[in-house]
Amino acid sequence: HGLVKHFGDGKGLFTPQRPPVRAVDGVSLTINRGETLGLVGESGSGKSTLGRLILRLIEPTSGTVTFDGQDIATLSKSRLTQLRKRMQLVFQDPFSSFNPRMTIAQVLTEPMLVHGMGDRASRIKRAKELLDLVGLPSFAMERYPHQFSGGQAQRIGIARALSTDPDLIVCDEAVSALDVSVQAQVLNLLKEVQRELGLSYLFIAHDLNVVRYISDRVCVMYLGKLAEVAHADDISERPRHPYSQALMASIPSPDAHHELRTPLAGEIPSPRRPPAGCRFHPRCSQRIDGCDRDEPELLTIGSNSEARSVACHLFDPTSAR
Ligand code: SF4
Ligand code: MG
Repeated sequence: HGLVKHFGDGKGLFTPQRPPVRAVDGVSLTINRGETLGLVGESGSGKSTLGRLILRLIEPTSGTVTFDGQDIATLSKSRLTQLRKRMQLVFQDPFSSFNPRMTIAQVLTEPMLVHGMGDRASRIKRAKELLDLVGLPSFAMERYPHQFSGGQAQRIGIARALSTDPDLIVCDEAVSALDVSVQAQVLNLLKEVQRELGLSYLFIAHDLNVVRYISDRVCVMYLGKLAEVAHADDISERPRHPYSQALMASIPSPDAHHELRTPLAGEIPSPRRPPAGCRFHPRCSQRIDGCDRDEPELLTIGSNSEARSVACHLFDPTSAR
């Protein structure tokens, strides 16, 4: 809740000439049990930083993260270690997160060993079950990471994340490096595993097409803030924030009506000096008087899975969806 993360430049004090990077600048969100919450935005929008704050891999400048009713900032080291077991991360490049000299058996059993789960025989047994769950044969156990394709390696990355029996997996650009056909296979695998195990995902990607496919709800992030949060179908069919509309319009589509929408112009500004007022105003085709001065609040209509939140002066919460 109210998460803020400002980074320095490694040289110490912030000065007016070198202000901090406001990577995440006041974000509140909730991930429900068994849900996939998508987090989409261009690179530089603060998505990965937000994912790492939620896992407490980095400390927030301010704000709180609550997991299962516990404020994780106040937990002792040993309680945090226990909690870590229940939250895992799947990276974009599985190869860089594997030790190339470890066999897949070692890759998969290491997190269980770290968390003191079971004895050696039961860890090996669990590793084989996990390989089976992600659709790889058990002879993969004796192989090394480089002997696998990118898609297979990501399956192993998912199996490793599952090894500690987590409740939440943060997938950070987990399919972005894969070919489109392999992407679909890995996304479907994530969905199957979720159905079987009932876990939650925070699914982070720059590609809205991928995010809306896998997500129940989608958070659209721009320069460290949420622009819109809505059900995935609502984002697809009726995006309300001009930035969401621009992201939707940039998805290649055979439907002609998409071409009538305004594509996204220009580049994302530096999070070191976010624009005044609405951060999106320099790129917004719908900006009105005051957008460069007054910052829009994130306003919510509806409740639960029907809720929609939009941060834009054009959004009128009193009129229907
Ligand atoms: Fe565009 Fe103004 Fe809405 Fe920002 S507040 S998205 S500039 S219309
Ligand atoms: Mg990133």
